[in-house]
Amino acid sequence: MDYDTLFIGGEWVKPSSSRRIEVCSATTEAPIGSVPEAQETDVDAAVTAARRALPVWAQWSPADRASAMERLATILEGHAEEIVRRVSSQNGMPVAVASQLEGAFPVVLLRYYAGLARDSAFEETRPGVFGGNTLVRKEPIGVVGAIVPWNFPQTLAAFKYAPALAAGCTIVLKPSPETVLDSFLFAEAVREAGIPAGVVNVVPGGRELGAYLVQHPGVDKISFTGSTAAGRSIGETCGRLLRPVTLELGGKSAAIVLDDAELELEKIAEQLFAATLLNNGQTCFLGTRVLAPRGRYDEIVDLFTGFARALKVGDALDPATQIGPMASARQRERVEGYIAKGLGSGARITTGGGRPADRDRGWFVEPTVFADVDNNHTIAQEEIFGPVLAVIPYSDEDEAVRIANDSDYGLGGTVWTSDPERGRQVAKRVQTGTIGVNTYLPDPTAPFGGVKASGIGRELGPEGLAAYQQLKSIYLG
Ligand code: NAD
Repeated sequence: MDYDTLFIGGEWVKPSSSRRIEVCSATTEAPIGSVPEAQETDVDAAVTAARRALPVWAQWSPADRASAMERLATILEGHAEEIVRRVSSQNGMPVAVASQLEGAFPVVLLRYYAGLARDSAFEETRPGVFGGNTLVRKEPIGVVGAIVPWNFPQTLAAFKYAPALAAGCTIVLKPSPETVLDSFLFAEAVREAGIPAGVVNVVPGGRELGAYLVQHPGVDKISFTGSTAAGRSIGETCGRLLRPVTLELGGKSAAIVLDDAELELEKIAEQLFAATLLNNGQTCFLGTRVLAPRGRYDEIVDLFTGFARALKVGDALDPATQIGPMASARQRERVEGYIAKGLGSGARITTGGGRPADRDRGWFVEPTVFADVDNNHTIAQEEIFGPVLAVIPYSDEDEAVRIANDSDYGLGGTVWTSDPERGRQVAKRVQTGTIGVNTYLPDPTAPFGGVKASGIGRELGPEGLAAYQQLKSIYLG
């Protein structure tokens, strides 16, 4: 899986340098492919191509853009199996998870935004109070620099390109170096779909290249998903440049188990997994702080311990695997560092804490549960981004909400209860951009994003489309 060219301006072009990005399998640690590393000159070419394509794509009717997006969706759907295998090999996401997310979600999003493009009004005439009318137009914001992380490379790119394409924007996409191989399949699909040259460009590279794209004079908007630290730096640059920016950042969400929750593991295991340990814990919205009422604390610690211990750890490409390896050696080091900090703070490991004994290759960490955690502990405040849960006791509902909100972050969360109305009331009190009651599943139709250090702006839903539009009022005499 070695590529020699970059997808810029609708063509596979020679890169400007011989530098390469090598990718290894998270499960075997063996090299699995390489791509050219884009340089600043390549980003310049990509931005120029995107600028040139902008008036062309923006002038296509929304219905024609929608048809092209639907063609892209169908092509991606046809290649889903290969895309899924590539993502899983690179970042360790179990294929069972990747098929539902990386394989299927971009297709759903493209179709959803194609539908919105067809059905939305891109202009309306408003009668004014002073007599005349105003033509209010929703114009494409322009050239978008889209920067994505390695944890859900296809889906998180689609969070950006699907609404951006619907709005009539053009894109320069910078994937993360850990997951570049799948971005070439996406680029091939764009070409095959007959999307005009330059509408989508892909520049694989690291953080310096990302920073170069963020400040590029030819870019009109930045859409970033990644860490809070990088988001702050990108936000500063965009603030100085007065450049619109959407920031989807880290999280440390709470899974609030209310005292009336019915906790039959067989019944809730699937929902619990999606809400707390999805993608080996490498998911931004997970409720990794489990808040348990003191009266049921031991029972809940036992439940989570049993739940984590029963998960099948293994090769990311094995369909039976529930927990695969971390995406990189660095990521495993980070997770292990947090496990050591948890032990150092006096918390108690009830399961996991090490590397699986039967794996001598791959960046594996056992699913780990900490009990006796205080919300002030580092493992309760900082994002670990691995399969590590911290169970924190609380006395009453008010204290549960207070602990949930005692966080720099506010991205996801869940409430577990046998009374859905009570769950909704508690959910309303949590400072977060998204939260679920007895479930957690971001839906394409509903805005997704964070508050506090989890970000600025929203993706998905009609709000996600509006993020790629700028309003123009034309006063008509
Ligand atoms: P990261 O911030 O290190 O990198 C993300 C992307 O940004 C990569 O493509 C990287 O090359 C690029 N980048 C890094 N620094 C940059 C800079 N200063 N300027 C421009 N580009 C830069 O994050 P990561 O480790 O790859 O991903 C994990 C993080 O992403 C976690 O914190 C996670 O919570 C977050 N995340 C958030 C969401 C969300 O929707 N809120 C979703 C998934 C992941």
